[in-house]
Parts: sequence; C-alpha cells; structure tokens
Amino acid sequence: MKILIVGAGIAGPTLAYWLRRTGHEPVIVERAPRLRRGGYAVDFWGSGFQVAERMGLAPRLHEEGYRFLEAREVSGSGRRIAHFDPLRLIDGYGGGYVTILRSDLSAAIWDALQGEVETVFGDTVRSLHDDGDRVLVEFAHGSPREFDLVVGADGLHSLVRSLGFGPEPEFERDLGITVAAFDLEGYRPRDELVAVTHTVVGALTLRIGLRDDSTMFCFMFRHEGETPPDDLMAQQQLLRDRLRDVGWEVPTILEQMPRARTFFMDRASQILLPSWSRGRIALIGDAAAAPSLLAGQGSALAMVEAYVLACALHEADGDHRAAFAAYQSRLQSVVRTKQDAAIGMGSAFAPRNRAQVLLRNVALGLMNVPLIANLAIGRSLRDPIVLPPAPGS
Ligand SMILES: Cc1cc2nc3c(=O)[nH]c(=O)nc-3n(C[C@H](O)[C@H](O)[C@H](O)COP(=O)(O)OP(=O)(O)OC[C@H]3O[C@@H](n4cnc5c(N)ncnc54)[C@H](O)[C@@H]3O)c2cc1C
Repeated sequence: MKILIVGAGIAGPTLAYWLRRTGHEPVIVERAPRLRRGGYAVDFWGSGFQVAERMGLAPRLHEEGYRFLEAREVSGSGRRIAHFDPLRLIDGYGGGYVTILRSDLSAAIWDALQGEVETVFGDTVRSLHDDGDRVLVEFAHGSPREFDLVVGADGLHSLVRSLGFGPEPEFERDLGITVAAFDLEGYRPRDELVAVTHTVVGALTLRIGLRDDSTMFCFMFRHEGETPPDDLMAQQQLLRDRLRDVGWEVPTILEQMPRARTFFMDRASQILLPSWSRGRIALIGDAAAAPSLLAGQGSALAMVEAYVLACALHEADGDHRAAFAAYQSRLQSVVRTKQDAAIGMGSAFAPRNRAQVLLRNVALGLMNVPLIANLAIGRSLRDPIVLPPAPGS
C-alpha cells in the first residue's frame, strides 16, 4: 500500500522503516524544512529500546547518548540533599536505557531509512478526504495526491488529528504544568553525568551537562489554566517572572537564557482518544496517545506504536480495518495505565506545597532501595508490553 506518514519525529520514521521492510510504500511529509536539531534530551528505555535494537540502532544510541550516574537534588545553596543511581533504578526493570537528545534519536531512526523513503520537507497536509477506497490529500504547497492510508505522526498538537478526528481540546488532558527547555554553551558548573535538580513549591529546575560543552536546562512550573504564549520573547519573560525567586543557580541561568541556541516551551498534556483510527486514517505516537513528559516514556511508546501498527498491517495482509483494531487493542490499556501513572508524578515535578517538596526529597533518597523504589514508582517504570516478532524477518 501507498501510505502517507505525516511527521518525521520519532514515530513517523520508525513506521516508515517497518512498512518498507514489509513491502509497503511509505511517503513522509514533514512541516519543518529539515530534521530538527538540538532541543531537549529524553530518557529512552523499555520496549521502545527493544524496537530500536531490532532496527540495529542500539550501538549508535549508546555512542551518542548518556548514562547518568547520579540524580541529585540540591538546596537553594547548592548543597546535595538527596540522590540516587538512575542506572540501578531503570536497569532493574530490564531492557536498555540511555538519555539522548530527542533530535539525535530522531536522526538515528531517520538514517536507518537509508534515503529509501520519499520524504517531502517544508510541507504539510491541508485537507484529507477519505472516500472509503483511498484518501485524497491536499497539501499546503505540493499538488494533491491519493494514498491507501494516512498515518498522523505529527506529535502532541497533531494537525491530522484535528482534521480527521476533531479539535484538540476534545482530547487533551492538561496536567497544569508548563515545561520549558533550552541549552547553553560553556555554562559552569557542569557536574558531568549528574542530573541536578532544584525543587521548590510549584517549580523544578533540571541541569544536565552534555557533550561539546553544552548544558541543557529544563524547567517545570504550575500554571493556572493559562496557555504559554507563542512568541519567544514572551515565553522567556514568563519563565523569568515565574522562576526568578526560586534560588540556587536559577537567576544566573535566566540571565544567560538570551544566548540559548534552542528554546522550547509548552504545557504538559496528554491525549486521550477513544479511537486511534477512523476509516483509512490512523494516529501514532503523541498524536494518538501522548503520555506527557511526566511519563518519561513518550518517545519509547511512539516507537512501540509505530512498530505494532506495522506488524498489525503485515499480519492483516492489507485489511486496514483489522490492522487498526489490532494495533489499538494490543496497546491501548498499557498506554492508558502509563498516562494515569504519569499524573501521579506531577507532585514530584512541580509539588503543590511544602509537604510535597519534603516528601519528594525523602522519596528520592530512598530510590536506591529497590523495594521502596518499586512501591513508589514501580507502576510507572514497569513496561508490560510484549512486542510481536519482527515483521518480514
Ligand atoms: C521537555 C520534554 C522532555 C521529554 N522527556 C522525555 C523523556 O525523558 N522520555 C521520553 O520517552 N519522552 C520524553 N518526552 C516526550 C517525547 O519527546 C515525545 O513523546 C516524542 O517525541 C513523541 O514522538 P512523536 O514522533 O509522536 O512526535 P514528535 O517527536 O513531536 O514528532 C512530530 C514530528 O511531526 C512534525 N510535525 C508537526 N506538525 C506537523 C504537520 N502539521 N505536518 C507535518 N509535520 C508535522 C514535527 O515537526 C515533528 O518532526 C519529553 C518531551 C518534552 C517536551
């Protein structure tokens, strides 16, 4: 089948890879003029890592990624007040684990396509018309084309979802937290391979040192239903207004923010759709079921969803209805469990009151004790997905 994939992030190229392996003809359309570079880092592990292994990506991910040796909470004066070994924690749940720039993960998947998939950068869909036999697609720039299927892999604010399923507010669960991330060159101090956090009531700041003398900062703070502005200057001002009094290195970091190479701000939200497909149009990754960054597993799930959809299409031998139903029934309850577990993590990332800050820091210190870690966050770390055998192998 000729299958249009909208979005060249994590899910899109993964799906293209497995569709090609099973004899289909994927075409990717990506709104950005080229693959996005830089940005924030993701913890990548669990079944998603297994999919990456099946694509032969593990050596590259280990080479380009990081394995942090310590997660450290510091006080306003920079004193270590709690810490644990993240490798021991995550490795205990099986599978590979690496922290990697989202854009490096995306590029590694992209390179696995070896230039064999037609890709149109700098364009997007404008309308989708499913006549039951084909989907007629109009593009913002290119000429209209027909496809057997269309798959939206265009992220949290998916246009395919808006066009084919309904407006975003119908499906969005806003977690009440705004997230911002940026990177600076030459920032000091660095604390190599330590993820340093400073948490106060309503806000958290994370600092991690990356290669090439780059440091990434991530901020989370509670919002009262307001949407972050679109304009970069206004976003940076919002960050200053909300975080300038939280202490630690934050005033210095905010002072240096104007020289950030990339800047990201969005609200943390989840997508809950009753059905991940409609007719000949399906959704994968954040577009279908974003668990939010609080789950720490969105990129892994994006890869799993892409892989399982490709397997289901292969098994159904061209019957897209059967394939879409199988894809959703295999994954929906696991994904929903992870979404629900992520909500519980909100108090760890942006505690509501002083008691939650104290509880969080005590819990962090106890993460080195496997039994307690299992009780506290085992539900969000467990990954009960059994991947079907690789299609076409
Ligand atoms: C700060 C932060 C930290 C995170 N930390 C983690 C973590 O630790 N672990 C983890 O697993 N996940 C994490 N995530 C979540 C993770 O990044 C996402 O779940 C993952 O990227 C989803 O992959 P995707 O392919 O569905 O979407 P994306 O990676 O968002 O890719 C979507 C692609 O579609 C393109 N696109 C968008 N709209 C259109 C359009 N209209 N037409 C064409 N193309 C379009 C975009 O340019 C992009 O290339 C984090 C997210 C954030 C914001």
